Amino acid sequence: MPTGIRDYPARAREIIRKDPLVRESVTGATIAFDEKRRRSYAEIDAEAWRRWAEGVKNHTLTHLDRYLTEAEARLEANGAEVHWAEDAAEAREIVMELAQRHSVRDVVKGKSMLTEEIDLNPALERARIDVLETDLGEFILQLFNEPPSHILGPAIHKSLQQVRNLFTEVLRTDSDADPDTLAQAAREALSDVFIRADMGITGANFLVAETGTVALIENEGNIRLATSLPRVHVAIVGIEKLLPRMTDLAGFLQLTARAATGQPIGCFVSLIQGPALHPEDDGPEEVHVILVDNGRTDVLAHEHAWEALRCLRCGACLNVCPVYRQTGGHAYGYVYSGPIGSVLDPGLLGLHEAMPLPFASSLCGACFDACPVRIPIPELLLEWRREAQEAGLTPWKERAALAGLAGMATRPGLYRAAGKLGSRLAGTGMARSLPMLGAWAEDRALPKPSRRTFRELWRAGIE
Ligand code: SF4
Repeated sequence: MPTGIRDYPARAREIIRKDPLVRESVTGATIAFDEKRRRSYAEIDAEAWRRWAEGVKNHTLTHLDRYLTEAEARLEANGAEVHWAEDAAEAREIVMELAQRHSVRDVVKGKSMLTEEIDLNPALERARIDVLETDLGEFILQLFNEPPSHILGPAIHKSLQQVRNLFTEVLRTDSDADPDTLAQAAREALSDVFIRADMGITGANFLVAETGTVALIENEGNIRLATSLPRVHVAIVGIEKLLPRMTDLAGFLQLTARAATGQPIGCFVSLIQGPALHPEDDGPEEVHVILVDNGRTDVLAHEHAWEALRCLRCGACLNVCPVYRQTGGHAYGYVYSGPIGSVLDPGLLGLHEAMPLPFASSLCGACFDACPVRIPIPELLLEWRREAQEAGLTPWKERAALAGLAGMATRPGLYRAAGKLGSRLAGTGMARSLPMLGAWAEDRALPKPSRRTFRELWRAGIE
């Protein structure tokens, strides 16, 4: 799948300058999400939960072959059909073959970042299959014809008024309708499609090896409908989503909800093990689970990046990231944005393809503190930066600046002179005309510095 990652700096600059509404909407929404997460973490011994979850995930990832085999056997014993997809193209082919086999004309989808990753919707649409996103945020974005900009809240970059205007045009709601009315209008628009859909497609939050259980967390009830009303349910699952036992799932359901939305648990948890076994049972006639690699095995083999595979896709690191809050996810140019995107994308796509995302961070460490599975994102970013430097992938300006800084820092006389010059120039406006520093200073209000350098002040204090 072609990405727009290369254009990250230009796109971020454009959003910041020309679309202040995005920054306003994203910052407001992420702060609200994060406050809920903090309150929810404060109700439990969050550190103990995080360490437990990290341990379970590490154990699972180091025995992944065993748990995948166990999950496959359990799912098949439950009556589900298991498929393996090495890459995005294979995953799409499997879905298309299933759609053809069942003469599918209408598909309802639950929110799934993996289906975005494998570019599934365009493939279905090319085959003249109608695909309807049923998560409210995804439904809104489908009407806007835009991709999601946040793992959890795909439409958080949109303001209420933008959604009102859209719904007035498409669903004939009042121009001042409140959010509940808008949600109700979406529900009514979707209800018929749930009934006539032949196939429901979802992702999975977890797959439990012990029982062959696909677990899905949600708050709207749309996934429950998409997995139970159509004749065929297809769950598209990344191979890193495994958990060994049902008792592990009990803890992960709670921790994921707390990290994502601050809830003790999601409003709906669907546990799917296979198709309806008897005519009088509810549920689909067929359940298919597609286990997708698409670069995950390469990430697992990487000395450092493998830790990113613990990710639960809760979005907590995006919510707390000062860089993400400025632009939202579209600037990043790929499905996974924000801190987790900046460490996962180089692993999935290759470092060359994912440049300059490892540099899109202030390394403040807030993402690590928020992460329910303690992914050391700042450390992974530094590793990717080191690899980028060694591979000559960092921009020449940055390499020249670092070489200049290193040259200066190892010559005390030069360092002192540069410090003095810098403290005189900063605050005069001249910094904006300096090469390299000018672009950095353009969008920032520089504080007026002390006329005396730190060394001068230090010496005066000692004397
Ligand atoms: S890296 Fe951690 S905080 Fe970020 S989405 Fe993944 S699990 Fe959540």
